[in-house]
Amino acid sequence: MRNKINKYDIALIIVIIVINVAILVYGSFNVVDKGQKIAYVYSDNKLVNEYTLTDDYKTEFTVNLGPGYNTVHIEGGKIWIHDASCPDKICLSQGKISKDGEIIVCLPNKLLIQIKDNHKSEDELDIIVK
Ligand SMILES: [Zn+2]
Repeated sequence: MRNKINKYDIALIIVIIVINVAILVYGSFNVVDKGQKIAYVYSDNKLVNEYTLTDDYKTEFTVNLGPGYNTVHIEGGKIWIHDASCPDKICLSQGKISKDGEIIVCLPNKLLIQIKDNHKSEDELDIIVK
């Protein structure tokens, strides 16, 4: 018969409270961790520009490499290829990206766009367009 709370019950309650607090703290860290998303634009393996993706930032620009070009559009926290000179148009079909780690590649024009959270170090980037 156990009709009293013994020390093991108390220990169990403390463990549950600690776990709950840990989950809450972890959750709030995650919110902080969201940070800013930066779109890095590489042309011929060189970083040509970077854009902070926010919901209210909107721009359009063209990256040229020789005769090739890619027109890039940023709007609503997303980035995508709007127009391109490449014959395959694969970059156009890659659609809109907005999440950390997502990339758009245009191989004919040697264009690479990658999104990274700004709290991560840049040397994590090891993708090279050849
Ligand atoms: Zn392309």
